[in-house]
Amino acid sequence: MVMTPEQSPEYPPELSPEEEQYLLSTLKDWSIANGLAVRPAPSFISKEQDPSGVLASTAPVTLFPSLFPRSCFLEGCRIQSAYNELYSAIARDEDWLKSIVEELIGVDDFVSRLWEIHTEVKKEGYAQDLSLGLFRSDYMLHSDPSTTDQGLGLKQVEFNTIASSFGGLSSQVSALHNYLLEIGAYPASSANIIKSDAVQQSSSTSSLAKGLAVAHRAYGKSKGARPLCVLFVVQDPERNVFDQRLLEYALFSEGGIRAFRLPFNRTLENTRLDTDRTLLYTPPHAPSCTYEVTTVYFRAGYSPDDYPKQDDWTARLHLERSRAIKCPSVLTHLAGCKKIQQVLATPHSPHLKRFLPDEERASQVLATFAPIYPLDQSEAGLEARDLATNPESAVRYVLKPQREGGGNNIYRKSIPEFLKKLPQSHWPAYILMEMIEPPPARNAILRNGEVQKGGVICELGVYGVCLWRNGSKEGDKGEILENWEAGYLLRTKGDQSEEGGVAAGFGAVDSCCLL
Ligand code: ADP
Ligand code: MG
Ligand code: MG
Repeated sequence: MVMTPEQSPEYPPELSPEEEQYLLSTLKDWSIANGLAVRPAPSFISKEQDPSGVLASTAPVTLFPSLFPRSCFLEGCRIQSAYNELYSAIARDEDWLKSIVEELIGVDDFVSRLWEIHTEVKKEGYAQDLSLGLFRSDYMLHSDPSTTDQGLGLKQVEFNTIASSFGGLSSQVSALHNYLLEIGAYPASSANIIKSDAVQQSSSTSSLAKGLAVAHRAYGKSKGARPLCVLFVVQDPERNVFDQRLLEYALFSEGGIRAFRLPFNRTLENTRLDTDRTLLYTPPHAPSCTYEVTTVYFRAGYSPDDYPKQDDWTARLHLERSRAIKCPSVLTHLAGCKKIQQVLATPHSPHLKRFLPDEERASQVLATFAPIYPLDQSEAGLEARDLATNPESAVRYVLKPQREGGGNNIYRKSIPEFLKKLPQSHWPAYILMEMIEPPPARNAILRNGEVQKGGVICELGVYGVCLWRNGSKEGDKGEILENWEAGYLLRTKGDQSEEGGVAAGFGAVDSCCLL
């Protein structure tokens, strides 16, 4: 039987002032000592207060693990390898991807420019046949009588193919909650719920690092007998730097592999292509030493804000042309467009079967799709336009552009007004998605030193690693070489907030206490 968080109204337990004080001081010290941290927000510590940027603060975290139905958690983990297979197959099917992207060209400049990068590289031929995906599939709980005996199922919020973040912090927050449990920082009254076999340790740090390591090794030896490295292409400044560092450190300690951080806007300065398009990186701190890059791991480049200058597009093209393995390739990045998710979710469409021929796996994936509609001139699109422009129906929906990184969506009652101001010719750049309404839950969040208690909404992310060969010859569809589920993330936000991003300033990292 599936228990829901509603069935534990006592959760989380009430703390006496002394208990809360002990829990908070333990949590604050543990988090800094173990890298469960972020650089402080400028609104919290000004540049004048920390001119050299040495300060770190506890990442927004929940005080307790959140209750989560075991069967739903296990289902999310179980289907991740099918999702990896699905998105790898989409990224390898250029013709199909093109048919979708074409609907966005002309209405979405960012998507158009990414597509142009692919067509440019295709002209001279891709120099690297392998691609790496470090994916994250995000879900919320939804009451759905067709999925489980108690009517709770997972519905997918979105699928991330680029810069899937928080894998590093997620392992730390589940370790923190387990530590708090083990030392008895949680009150005895909760002992029947928070048990050590219930608080799930996330393997995301080491599992994602292992993904980078398999790509690194699959690249092969350096032709020029140079040292090899992985390149983390990052935003600068980056507040979520420790999340990335945790992967870098795991890559080094578990795989013996060196990684460097390259701010995206320094790409053309610090890297160059050899005649066979081998990507060479010369660290500014050691100009006499040049590394051969096996794998480019993008933690930047997903937002139009990363491309203020033409040079930034030149840099993306330069990296895509290179012989390094890209995580992700431009085509894999494009496969993560919300439009793709909408097309896959079209009822009775043949698309899912095309990419996931195994019927059982396809039906498990299908069960996680929430209703999503286009806003184009198709029959479904015209119906969706009616729903989105009517204030009464619009409150059940979220409107999404083809963007990543949080803060881009339009929610519920704001949708009709927003569309009124947008020329109708641009509406097809958006998709309309039904809001998933998770059951009520409660927790306490520590953010910027303040504790907020109350109703919360949880979002489960399941990571996936997939390495594949694209198939360079005509008729060769490539093949998957590695495919595994790579741990999980739970993000929790106050139930008054529509957005969920931790970095965007809304959510907190959390862990699952399975019921
Ligand atoms: P992004 O790629 O910017 O993270 P998302 O699709 O994940 O975009 O949307 C951002 C946030 O909006 C999510 O983390 C979630 O909190 C909320 N959200 C998005 N879609 C839905 C939905 N269908 N139902 C409920 N909340 C949603
Ligand atoms: Mg996203
Ligand atoms: Mg998201």
